[in-house]
Amino acid sequence: MSAGSGAPDGSGVPGGSGSPGGSGSPGGSGTPGGGSSRASRGGFETLAIHAGQEPDPTTGAVVPPIYQVSTYAQDAVGNPRAGYEYSRTANPTRTALEECLAALEGGSRALAFASGMAAEDCLLRTICRPGDHVLIPHDAYGGTYRLFDKVLATWQLSYQPVPMSDPQAVKHALAQRPVRAVWVETPTNPLLSIVDITALAVMCADAGALLVVDNTFASPYLQNPLALGADAVVHSTTKYLGGHSDVVGGALVVADPGLGERLAFQQNATGAVAGPFDAWLTLRGIRTLAVRMDRHSDNALRVADMLAAHPAVSRVFYPGLPGHPGHEIAAKQMRGFGGMVSFRVRGGEAAAIAVCGRTRVFILGESLGAVESLIEHPGRMTHSSVAGSPLEVPADLVRLSVGIESGDDLLEDLRHALG
Ligand code: PLP
Repeated sequence: MSAGSGAPDGSGVPGGSGSPGGSGSPGGSGTPGGGSSRASRGGFETLAIHAGQEPDPTTGAVVPPIYQVSTYAQDAVGNPRAGYEYSRTANPTRTALEECLAALEGGSRALAFASGMAAEDCLLRTICRPGDHVLIPHDAYGGTYRLFDKVLATWQLSYQPVPMSDPQAVKHALAQRPVRAVWVETPTNPLLSIVDITALAVMCADAGALLVVDNTFASPYLQNPLALGADAVVHSTTKYLGGHSDVVGGALVVADPGLGERLAFQQNATGAVAGPFDAWLTLRGIRTLAVRMDRHSDNALRVADMLAAHPAVSRVFYPGLPGHPGHEIAAKQMRGFGGMVSFRVRGGEAAAIAVCGRTRVFILGESLGAVESLIEHPGRMTHSSVAGSPLEVPADLVRLSVGIESGDDLLEDLRHALG
């Protein structure tokens, strides 16, 4: 199993420079068979449908086949055909997804993982070493906090929650001690705060820290952090990229090819890769990302407007509302405001939980970003792991993932639930 012991060039990257995973050029010459992609550039919708997705060289199939295979015949010892030798290291269906993701985020390299958390773990254990310090958001996905607090803390990685939407607070924290990385979500989960990526990128560059942006809530259709100066983008592809609640996955996209190589090495060495069917499902979702995100954003704005005027609601969090503190920055760095809306319910936790139990179209469940609308209580569900921490969420908070159903039905459902 040569892939397990590292590639012939010792890099741990399949087949060295000529490999499908090694070219780093989205839609470029690294496609199996060496053909150049028709869609290495173009508008977002064109890239979503064509980047990395050449018709299959053998059959002409217009959709990349699911290469459900673990190993590949080699033409001679040390001479793998088209660069593929073992599917942990590289698999053609995963390559198609990775090339498409790199094109959509404008990165030099993308890597697809078994989950968003696997992607986060790979990134942190590649860029950090025991003893390093990381700034994390004081409002973030609970699982990300748990990774820092319960897993990487035992690896001697220290972290410090900082309000990332306050650039002065970030500047102050960067001046206190050496920082390896600044971890940002924007919009944040679950409070939909907005972080000025450009401002933080300048500060991080000055301080010698890497800026990592979890772009899950925006998706690459609405926001491209690398173009704003970030060093790495993280996705839970489980969410908008997959878009149909039928697959769990994650991705990393980076601008620097050298960092891409180091991540590919770590990914191959630790092995939490996306399987071929999961990669295929995610790619299928990506082809309709643009039209879905437009409808998510339209419906979410209608929902946010309705909630803002509802007497049972004390506060609405949606960056598309002009009164949101991050509205202007969001308008500057995003192409739309997305499908996530959170709100606080008058009457406290019990009232919030009751609302979650009364909807008929919004399904009570964790996760987000799919075609169907979801409702949840972050304090008891997705964010229970931050209870008692600086990241604790309000007990009366309800989070909505607004889907692409008929907007009128969504409004009526919520009005009914709010009673
Ligand atoms: N980042 C954000 C913003 C998330 O909401 C999630 C999951 O909900 C993750 C990362 C983790 O992704 P996954 O569940 O695919 O491991």
